[in-house]
Amino acid sequence: MQNLWNDQEAAQYTDDLALRVYTSRLLGKEKLLVLHGGGNTSVKIRTSNILGEEEDILYVKGSGWDLETIAAAGFPPVRLGHLVALANLPELNDLQMVNELRSHMTIASAPTPSVEAILHAIIPHKFVDHTHADAVVSITNTNDGLQRIKDIYGDEVVIIPYVMPGFDLARLCNEIYSQKATDKTIGMILMNHGVFSFGETAKIAYTRMIDLVTRAEKYLESKNAWLPLELKVRNTNDRLSHDIAELRYHASRGAGFPLLMMTHRDGHCLGFAQRDDLATISQQGPATPDHVIRTKRVPMLGRDLTGYSKQYHNYFDEFSPQAKDPKTILDSAPRVILDPEIGMCTLGRSAKDAMIVADIYRQTIDTILRAERLGGYQALPAKDIFDVEYWDLEQAKLNKAGSTPGLSGEIALVTGAASGIGKACVENLLMQGAAVVGIDIDPAIEKLFEGPSYSGIICDVTDDVQIANTIEACARKFGGLDMLILNAGIFPTSSRIESLDMSLWNKVFKLNLDANLVLLRECYPLLRLAPNSGRVVIIGSKNVAAPGPGAAAYSASKAALKQLARIATLEWAQDGIRINTVHPDAVFDTGIWNDDILQSRANHYKISVEEYKTKNLLKVNITSDDVAKLVAAMCGPLFDKTTGAQLPIDGGNERVI
Ligand code: ZN
Repeated sequence: MQNLWNDQEAAQYTDDLALRVYTSRLLGKEKLLVLHGGGNTSVKIRTSNILGEEEDILYVKGSGWDLETIAAAGFPPVRLGHLVALANLPELNDLQMVNELRSHMTIASAPTPSVEAILHAIIPHKFVDHTHADAVVSITNTNDGLQRIKDIYGDEVVIIPYVMPGFDLARLCNEIYSQKATDKTIGMILMNHGVFSFGETAKIAYTRMIDLVTRAEKYLESKNAWLPLELKVRNTNDRLSHDIAELRYHASRGAGFPLLMMTHRDGHCLGFAQRDDLATISQQGPATPDHVIRTKRVPMLGRDLTGYSKQYHNYFDEFSPQAKDPKTILDSAPRVILDPEIGMCTLGRSAKDAMIVADIYRQTIDTILRAERLGGYQALPAKDIFDVEYWDLEQAKLNKAGSTPGLSGEIALVTGAASGIGKACVENLLMQGAAVVGIDIDPAIEKLFEGPSYSGIICDVTDDVQIANTIEACARKFGGLDMLILNAGIFPTSSRIESLDMSLWNKVFKLNLDANLVLLRECYPLLRLAPNSGRVVIIGSKNVAAPGPGAAAYSASKAALKQLARIATLEWAQDGIRINTVHPDAVFDTGIWNDDILQSRANHYKISVEEYKTKNLLKVNITSDDVAKLVAAMCGPLFDKTTGAQLPIDGGNERVI
């Protein structure tokens, strides 16, 4: 592992806290050391308080900060003397410990100090670095891991047996460190957890971390257990959308709320999920408590979620029969599922969460494969994994996490999404927390929005094969489909019936009607597996109730679409699928309208453009965003008990009323 320390760069960081920031970021850059907020660092500094008294302060990583991007504000200052005194208490529960940490900070608004703060405090060195380095964790998670660690490091490290993070671990480290540490000690190896290094300067502590981890990597290399980690992959069924949606449905039921489920089918993930010995190697649990927290329970095999649920109840019967009634646990869903056909599935309330889980489990796969090459992966006993997963502190976080946006964990598909009402629908659904697949014939769709919650697919909705491929892609990307927004349509140039060309008529019907029939039919198997019930919102038109001359094809196609929606409402009510239609009028910020057309329409009525735009009873201007907000609301709880509705959004139209 490369030492990234650079004297010139470091010279810009002039005090101890700044140097603490510098080397924390160096650690954070290396994904094999820390991943997504894992690891923590600290520095002990003497400062004077408001009374002019000198105090020793521990600046330790605060929760919610990532080492890669941490700043000085990410290190809450805690009174060191108090932390050291706490380490001598016979016991302290987690909630008491958090209270002591928070109430002994010198900046009231600082973030909550790491749960490993007391551990940092008891190490009598100025700079302390802690990571869950892959190489070290791979070695400690084998049956003769302890001997291997002794062989690699001799008496340069203090070895700590596994104890759950928190007060007990700090206390044990305090005890063992004070007995075992010598002037040769440069670090501490925590079995099944990670590694600490320390020193009097930021550079020494950091360099020691890199050295300790490099030695573990070299050891693995010498046993042919480092790289490459190639896996065989066999072909699978290429239509997986239904199986994926079914799996997500059951997982979401276990969670008590909808979860996105991303599938990962690269050679590494699929190859791992197809291994013959998967049952043995994957069911022991992750390699470090940090990963247990983020990937949650033991990743499950295959699609038999009833088996999973049984395993879950056994879990409680065995480890915590009275203390934890399964009904009071908010969320019992797995966050990783391994299936030899589908690959690795990762679940989360948002696409970002599911991607973080994927990164973490990819590393877990590497750790397991390395340990296997060393003679056998051996993770913590099930009881220890249970304790971390249902740790009071983590449950408290879950309780607080209730404020996610309304459509979190749900998936929407919007047609004709590259502009106008469709684009506004994507935007509003994303704001409501949904993951959105936008489809359009316009290639701009692919880059329309950034971020992990959006996927843009070029698709001609009049092509059945392209629709089937798009739905398959949607299921693989996010896990299924909850909301279908049928927006794509055309408004052809005006043509009176006596001169209406059949090819124009057919073209309009193909897009405005036939394509929607195919979309409804093909999306149905997924919509009926939506954990919160499926929803369809159709963008109709004022022309259904109040047609205009010269718009026969358009008006007739939209009227037929309305009838199709009514039949779907009747047929799919038994599946809980709600189908509602909005009828917008005079939405002028769409691709169909430009200044010339607006001016010519206004001239036709002998009024100004502004008067033409607000030519409705309420005299209001209706925007794409107004329509999209109504569409998003129709997908939400306000319309939970409404289906088959036909709702105008037109500022009031005498002919419609
Ligand atoms: Zn740790």
